[in-house]
Amino acid sequence: MAQSPLQEIETRSPGLIVFPFASGKNYAATLNGFYYVHHSSGLQKHTMRCTRHHKGCHGKINLTPSYKSLISETMTGHKTHSHPAEPTYCERKYAAWKLRSTAKSSRDPTSAIVAQQLQSVPVEVQGSFPKLSSLQRVVQRSRAV
Ligand SMILES: [Zn+2]
Repeated sequence: MAQSPLQEIETRSPGLIVFPFASGKNYAATLNGFYYVHHSSGLQKHTMRCTRHHKGCHGKINLTPSYKSLISETMTGHKTHSHPAEPTYCERKYAAWKLRSTAKSSRDPTSAIVAQQLQSVPVEVQGSFPKLSSLQRVVQRSRAV
């Protein structure tokens, strides 16, 4: 039996957005302009790691087992992220996921889905969005799965 895909989480912490990423088997989160992906799970918490860790960033956040609330932000010995906040990057990650998830559940033509999703994306993010043709490929690929 196929597992039902993960859905966006209704979070209780201000500014925290939690949604499935890439493979759809795990969660990603954005908070204050930083993008995190699932790193490890314990009994009491999930640890999400800043995706700029390969640049030497030690930023992590801990979420409750339901993923709904922030427990803490940790920097393991460092005071801040090693890089500036990237709100546009976060918006883009979130918007890309929404596009894929809408594409899977909708029967609208590809171009309609892309146009509709672009409307919900802030203008400053649209500028950095992939070209329309590549968005349409994202939609078509999502449907092929
Ligand atoms: Zn970071």
